[in-house]
Amino acid sequence: MIEIKGIEQHYDWGGEFYIPLLTGQEHASGEPMAELWLGDHPNGVATLTNGIPLTDWMAADYQGRLGDSCIKHYGKRLPFLLKVLDVKAPLSIQVHPTKKQAEKGYDLEQGLSIEPSKRNYKDANHKPELMLALSDFWLLHGFKSEKEITALLSKEESLESLLSPFTEGGTKQLVSYIFALSASELAPLIMPIVNRYLDAYQENRLSKNNAYFWMMRAYMRAASANAQLEAGLLMVLLLNLCYVAKGGVIFQDAGIPHAYLEGQNIELMANSDNVLRAGLTSKHVDPKELLSIVNFDPVKAESISPIAKDGGLEYPVPVNDFCLTEYRLQAGESLSLPENPGPCIWFVLSGEMTVNGQDKYWRNGSAFYQEPGNTSTIYAQTELVIYRSSAKL
Ligand SMILES: [Zn+2]
Repeated sequence: MIEIKGIEQHYDWGGEFYIPLLTGQEHASGEPMAELWLGDHPNGVATLTNGIPLTDWMAADYQGRLGDSCIKHYGKRLPFLLKVLDVKAPLSIQVHPTKKQAEKGYDLEQGLSIEPSKRNYKDANHKPELMLALSDFWLLHGFKSEKEITALLSKEESLESLLSPFTEGGTKQLVSYIFALSASELAPLIMPIVNRYLDAYQENRLSKNNAYFWMMRAYMRAASANAQLEAGLLMVLLLNLCYVAKGGVIFQDAGIPHAYLEGQNIELMANSDNVLRAGLTSKHVDPKELLSIVNFDPVKAESISPIAKDGGLEYPVPVNDFCLTEYRLQAGESLSLPENPGPCIWFVLSGEMTVNGQDKYWRNGSAFYQEPGNTSTIYAQTELVIYRSSAKL
């Protein structure tokens, strides 16, 4: 087992304090610390403590560090990417492709000369993801039911014109319709709602469990950046608003539109950065490609209950690329890390521990790479919460 250091991503929606407090690392004041990446994705490669990139270290001995079955299934790279997120402002509404869609899209875009920020497909992989809330967490996840959307369009007088595309062709036609509207065509739909709720939002009279709170927050951000009105503001009302209590876990499969709104989480996903966006931020939106991969079926975010396995709690997901397992130890307890045929990344969320009886203490924010076949033992010095990411091989 070898210690690794994550890479921080300074996206503008990130908070300033959570990740630096967690990892104990210095950071330039005022700079947002949105994500900590623990993996080998080209957009953010973790390093060993001596600064050597994880990719170089793996390349020196792929067989020993990834294992034959991992290489066979996923190639010479990690199957998964582990992240910690601190969401202060809403992220874009986004959708991730299936493996097939990603392969096709990546191939096609490779042949065209598109500037990187306008690319939909940055790699040929799917990106199902699992999130575990480290605080109260709010997100949008999947479309509401037909009944709920009908009720919304009937209740909001300014949205009445949307009833006919919706009745004709369901959610898909409705979404295609609003994405085809210009900012000036969107204004009579959106502004009456903004005028009705903005004071309440600013005076703190809207709950975070009320979708209008998030619509107003997104509107205010766009307004302060002098951005035009966009269809994403209406999407906030069409998607399910979910509150996840600390410790809760949600899985997001290909095609499910979603947006993180606020809170901190651990995210584990297939090793990909393929994101198609549907607004709420200034990032590139490609409505045509988006509409071709979105799942318009109504869904409810299902929280995932863990099952006891190998002395820990495993969160079952319907993909093989990744698996998150939580271990909780009391002070004085030890854990022999379960042997794995592939690589594992470990992350210490809280507490203090030693490894293999060495004379060194590791604390919250530390991360480790466990090679296939390695069997280290960790000793909890205090109450310890530690997570393992692995692939099913
Ligand atoms: Zn996502």
